[in-house]
Amino acid sequence: MKLTRTLSTLLDDPRLFRQHAYVNGKWTHGEGGREEAVFDPATGEAIGHIPWLEAHQIREAVDAADAAFAHWRALRADERCERLLAWHDLLQEHREDLATIMTLEQGKPLPDARGEVEYGASFVRWFAEEGKRTFGETIPSHIPNAALGTLKEPVGIAALITPWNFPLAMITRKAAAAMAAGCTVLVKPAGETPFSALALAELAERAGIPGGVFNVVLGEPAEVSKILCAEERVKAVSFTGSTRVGRLLLEQSAQSVKRVSLELGGNAPFIVGPDMDPKEAAFAAVAAKFQTAGQDCLAANRILVHESIHDEFVEHFAERMAALTVGNGLESEIDLGPLIHRQAVDKAAAIVDDAISRGATLVAGDQTRAPGENYFMPTLLTGVTPEMKVWREENFAPVAGVTAYRDDDQVIEMANDTEYGLAAYVYTHDIRRIWKLLRALEYGMVSVNSVKMTGPPVPFGGVKQSGLGREGGITGIDEYLETKYYCLGAL
Ligand code: NAD
Repeated sequence: MKLTRTLSTLLDDPRLFRQHAYVNGKWTHGEGGREEAVFDPATGEAIGHIPWLEAHQIREAVDAADAAFAHWRALRADERCERLLAWHDLLQEHREDLATIMTLEQGKPLPDARGEVEYGASFVRWFAEEGKRTFGETIPSHIPNAALGTLKEPVGIAALITPWNFPLAMITRKAAAAMAAGCTVLVKPAGETPFSALALAELAERAGIPGGVFNVVLGEPAEVSKILCAEERVKAVSFTGSTRVGRLLLEQSAQSVKRVSLELGGNAPFIVGPDMDPKEAAFAAVAAKFQTAGQDCLAANRILVHESIHDEFVEHFAERMAALTVGNGLESEIDLGPLIHRQAVDKAAAIVDDAISRGATLVAGDQTRAPGENYFMPTLLTGVTPEMKVWREENFAPVAGVTAYRDDDQVIEMANDTEYGLAAYVYTHDIRRIWKLLRALEYGMVSVNSVKMTGPPVPFGGVKQSGLGREGGITGIDEYLETKYYCLGAL
């Protein structure tokens, strides 16, 4: 309890720190007495507890979302927009507190956490406005004396299951789209980072979003997901997380035949052409790899550099990487915080060991300098080959692997040699090469000469085992809309 009070004392508005589920506009205890501690990954200390709801409480949350749906969908689009904009404004107003909560539960440096609050809020604003543009169509009639067209209608209740690496933005990117469409939502955040979700609920309530529209259910993940996927009244499941769990949810949703959107893992190639300045490309690659300590589905995992500039590139990369600071995200001037937990550190170490045992060279990455047991120092491997785990698996850690390539055809083959297909980076100024790679890369998103690629106006999502569907952009709201065709005959 002492530490819990400490977290509250760090906030200007201590009421943003909630330790209950939020169902039907009420803060809810678990009735079975089960609870889970939440830890600060930087220190390993418990910062609070959350209850695990019982199965009947999850079903009651579905009842509440179902009851609220009738009212919420009946509001005019501009009325829903106003409430969502009020929510957006509150997120901005409480940015510092939301960032502090995020850094404490997730570990990312405070400036990154502030950036995520801004990013998360920007989706609320985008979808608030998009909700006013869910136009149907008028269809030229092939039936005599008839008028044909389509209406867009909210699908119903949406279950949103989210990961710990972006504890706030992964929720708003889904929830704002669903709520703007007229759906009600049940959010199941990752157990590692529930407090950002609960702060969002507190602010949703203050924004005038009615009880039952935005719910946060907490519990044993497999148990909660099983109920939500099987429930016929839940019409859409949107999941961001690992491919393993995504497959499971797809299977569990089959019996009740519902919409499933999956934003899964990535294993991004970062391709550097022979015409590039090696220093410029190396600095960009460092930025694309070490964001959120490498725990980012867009992280540049496999850095593929033309053989003619490989050695120079590696030198600049190592130099830039050496300047990164590692430490508690609450302190100033920190580039990388801790990993989410000890298992993530062990996984990263195993991936590095596997690479070295198969012939890779460890250029830099001294783990004896780690400031605590959940930290992993930025690591650079060269001579990475497809047999190595660092090539095959999403390492979700600050481990960068570099491989030299000969020509464009070889690098295309290398880049596509993965089950994943989320994002790819290309660095070259040769327009022919850009076009060739853009067409040949089997990825949902390709960013050319830019590390930054995401945001509300663009579609986010992957192909192959990286997922189904797109979030954001002008099509993001479609995941939560049905198309109803009408034929008005005998006119
Ligand atoms: P995870 O799949 O372990 O967990 C995600 C969510 O699923 C959490 O809410 C978790 O509690 C829940 N969950 C865990 N086990 C479950 C089970 N057996 N049944 C039902 N639900 C279960 O993933 P994670 O470790 O939290 O996040 C990391 C993964 O997320 C990475 O693979 C990363 O690439 C991916 N990710 C993808 C995107 C994207 O947009 N494509 C964004 C962020 C993260």
